[in-house]
Amino acid sequence: MLEEIQAAPFLRERGVPVEHTGLADALLEALGRPGDHPRRPARRLTEEEIRQGLALLTGGGGVEEFRRRVRDLAARAACGVTGAEAVVARFGSLVNVESEGNWGVVSNLPPVHVAVVGIDQVVWDYDEALAVVRGVAACAWGARLGSYVSVVTGPSSTSDVAGRNVRGMHGPGTVHVILLDNGRRAALERGFGELLYCLRCGACLEVCPAYARLGRAFGGPYWGGRGVAAAALAEGPEGARRLGLEACLLDGRCREACPLGIDVPQALAHLRGQA
Ligand code: SF4
Repeated sequence: MLEEIQAAPFLRERGVPVEHTGLADALLEALGRPGDHPRRPARRLTEEEIRQGLALLTGGGGVEEFRRRVRDLAARAACGVTGAEAVVARFGSLVNVESEGNWGVVSNLPPVHVAVVGIDQVVWDYDEALAVVRGVAACAWGARLGSYVSVVTGPSSTSDVAGRNVRGMHGPGTVHVILLDNGRRAALERGFGELLYCLRCGACLEVCPAYARLGRAFGGPYWGGRGVAAAALAEGPEGARRLGLEACLLDGRCREACPLGIDVPQALAHLRGQA
């Protein structure tokens, strides 16, 4: 989500220092390389590239130094910015799944937590949120669950001492949730609501001939063929053409690979007709 809206470059251009806390994203940024998978972005780095990236990131201190640096940064940062896998409407909770633990660090240590989530990620209750989390873990990582499933329902707050309320004791005193539309409502209104079921698992990218040839140029920050359709709805025909609207072969391989059977080729064929 943060990549979709290019949050890091946007903030840096305005003088706000931004650091990635996930090891994979930090390595790729240090190497000046784009990730090639939405959930496992650094999976193709070689041993040598990992060594180079770590040296650039930590001056030779390795993973231990990166871990220390991230914790120091999070403890000093004015604000932690994350995505989340789901927002539970009934209780106002953010729900996330991860294994590295940096989501927990970023959402807990700074005094302010800002979460950016798509309006398509709003679910009704915890059962639905858990279904999303299990779907992400299974489809993106081939796992039953990540090491951490986090639920955040508002700021850190205690009234244990003489009934006086103190906010921000050990977690943030302020939590903001930004609900992002960016073409999602248009998807529903124009009959492309199926696209909003996407879990960003990346299975469709593995079989896509256009992605194999064009890489990240196909779909850009929205990723692949489904991303081209998302760009058409968010940015209009020009955005979709720029990100490869005509590159898709419409051969249906991605639909077969998608765990939800999302018919991206049909959506792209319709969008081509309207472009
Ligand atoms: S369209 Fe399907 S296969 Fe592709 S990322 Fe979304 S859920 Fe995964």
